[in-house]
Amino acid sequence: LRILGIETSCDETAASIVVRHEDGRGEIISDVVLSQLEEHSAFGGVVPEIAARAHVEALDGLIEEALSRAGIKLSDVDAVAATAGPGLIGGLLVGLMTGKAIAMSANKPLYAVNHLEGHALTARLTDGLGFPYLMLLVSGGHTQLVLVKGVGDYERWGTTIDDALGEAFDKTAKLLGLPYPGGPAVEKAARTGDATRFDFPRPLVGEARLDFSFSGLKTAVRQAATAIQPLTEQDIADICASFQRAISRTLKDRIGRGLARFRERSPALSEPSLVVAGGVAANQVIRSTLQDLCNEHRFAFIAPPLNLCTDNAAMIAWAGLERMAAGLPADPISVAPRSRWPLDNEAAALIGSGK
Ligand code: ATP
Ligand code: MG
Ligand code: FE
Repeated sequence: LRILGIETSCDETAASIVVRHEDGRGEIISDVVLSQLEEHSAFGGVVPEIAARAHVEALDGLIEEALSRAGIKLSDVDAVAATAGPGLIGGLLVGLMTGKAIAMSANKPLYAVNHLEGHALTARLTDGLGFPYLMLLVSGGHTQLVLVKGVGDYERWGTTIDDALGEAFDKTAKLLGLPYPGGPAVEKAARTGDATRFDFPRPLVGEARLDFSFSGLKTAVRQAATAIQPLTEQDIADICASFQRAISRTLKDRIGRGLARFRERSPALSEPSLVVAGGVAANQVIRSTLQDLCNEHRFAFIAPPLNLCTDNAAMIAWAGLERMAAGLPADPISVAPRSRWPLDNEAAALIGSGK
């Protein structure tokens, strides 16, 4: 089975051709991503209108590029998969409409894919991982711990009650006058900093529920930064290092509980796995925190290559292939994009009922 994947939910325009072999193995044939980072960096964040226009301008060319790199024509694909949510509605419209137009004109089935499902299933494409496993998604828009039980079968165990982790990095960077995106800038500054200088808060640590909260941390950073004026380079480095230390301790507590709960639930699994996804997974401090935690709990720690952790179309293509292989139905051409679209059925029902 061969599929074209399209991703336009945020600030990456992407197209990819992925194959699923008879034995279930996935293979990425081509994978092109155009990041809009430069268009947005002057504004210190993603501007929805600019993003939507950039998707319109880039998408057709990227799809052609993905096809030509794979050495195939549109008529050679068995299906089309496009992200239908969650994300910025303008971008979602562009990608889903394009996917529909291609599916209709080439007479192929269309799969409207949940972006989060793409992240959740990536480890099966890269590592052939079997169900069930735990997935931690840490990006600019999401911070979730999800139990992945099967294709279309997810339980969200924890989510952020305020800022996403990537967002906390971006806001902290902005406060300190560091460039956008904040993650890499904060990580770099932290390398020469004293992580013990500030004792930043670690919200929800010790609580039994597995949610996250990062807005208090950002406020504490603001207070520390305004208390010292002017800020020297060393002050900034110390704040960044202390900020990362607080996050690392928070994750240790939250994820540690998650791992323990997973083991309790699935005692028969000899080596359970924790998979990480999202742009924040690039952070070395966070990576080694998770690696240590997994060693301690005797979990396998699986971190897909970074270009597949951040937004891409290969994961959307793969999610479509997984649905096809699982015998799940294609979507009607009338399917609409959804800016909010929780992964698990329980949360989706809550949104549907307006709660
Ligand atoms: P979505 O949430 O919809 O998946 P996104 O574009 O916000 O989309 P990603 O592209 O996966 O998310 O990741 C971007 C985020 O990752 C930004 O918030 C950025 O600051 C953060 N990030 C990138 N590199 C690092 C790093 N080295 N350390 C910490 N955070 C990082
Ligand atoms: Mg992005
Ligand atoms: Fe994403």
